[in-house]
Amino acid sequence: MKRIPLGNTGMHISPLVFGTLPLGPLQAGLSPEEGGRLIRHALELGVNLLDTAELYETYPHIRAALDGYAGEVYLASKTHAADAALARDHVERALRELGRERLDIVHLHGARLADPFAERAEVLEELLKMKGEGKIAHVGLSAHYISAVRKAAEHPEIEVVHPLINQTGMGILDGTAAEMAEAIAACSRSGKGIYAMKALAGGNLIAEARQSLRYVLGIAGVDGVAVGMLSIGEIEANLALFAGAEPDEAVWETLEKRRRRLRIMDRFCKGCGFCVTACTNDALAIVDGKAQVDEAACILCGYCAAACPEFMIRVV
Ligand code: SF4
Ligand code: SF4
Repeated sequence: MKRIPLGNTGMHISPLVFGTLPLGPLQAGLSPEEGGRLIRHALELGVNLLDTAELYETYPHIRAALDGYAGEVYLASKTHAADAALARDHVERALRELGRERLDIVHLHGARLADPFAERAEVLEELLKMKGEGKIAHVGLSAHYISAVRKAAEHPEIEVVHPLINQTGMGILDGTAAEMAEAIAACSRSGKGIYAMKALAGGNLIAEARQSLRYVLGIAGVDGVAVGMLSIGEIEANLALFAGAEPDEAVWETLEKRRRRLRIMDRFCKGCGFCVTACTNDALAIVDGKAQVDEAACILCGYCAAACPEFMIRVV
């Protein structure tokens, strides 16, 4: 698979980035061995950037995939910590569990922060300190807010941006897809590396997956797109699409007919509402003492699942 320079980082990445969130307990709940086999298959076919996060609980899957693998692979993780000490703990844990002395990218996980540089100033400072210690190669920002991506374009220490974008704009918290695309282009002009997330809006655009992926790949400044993949067929179809090959209609028709959904095990739901607070898309409400999802508004981001103390929310 071809390599694209990731901004001014010096890294050259495969445009198809393996998004590991769906493998883990917040979504499909694959074992580390099952998930690791999928990741390994993608690596052997040329993918070289794996995207994870403290929240995703997929370090064991990545570790399994990398066992005995000698090829090139970059690892990107994220910390959602609100203070410096926890951010350090998150990075140390990632290093330990991934078996690395240095992470290639650590994002300030600013998904739901309109101004992460003000709201998480001490976290950014700590990440930069850890970069100085040699534990992080590049500091990045993941964002669902256009305002945050615009600020990242002007921030001298941010080297990689991981923005949410898809052709419908679903999940963008303060504007349209066109406005996010402009912010992405501004980041690229200032030398940031960019790999996008939620090109399929967490599964909502699966029925038009090919068109949706091409839309994001075609945005000026986008170097790569993180895609969650749960089967060998999906990995191979995406690799072919990203390489510009003629798509296999039969395979894509099968893939585009899949529908993933948020499942709340309401029998055990306590109606506490933590999930409702965690959802920035107004896709959840408490109805008759139980959480209920509005599927039309849900982007399957998994934040509600992470917030549920009863572990009662899954993407299936
Ligand atoms: S309901 Fe859950 S998965 Fe859906 S958008 Fe809200 S937080 Fe994300
Ligand atoms: S956080 Fe979990 S237990 Fe609480 S309302 Fe939501 S689904 Fe129910």
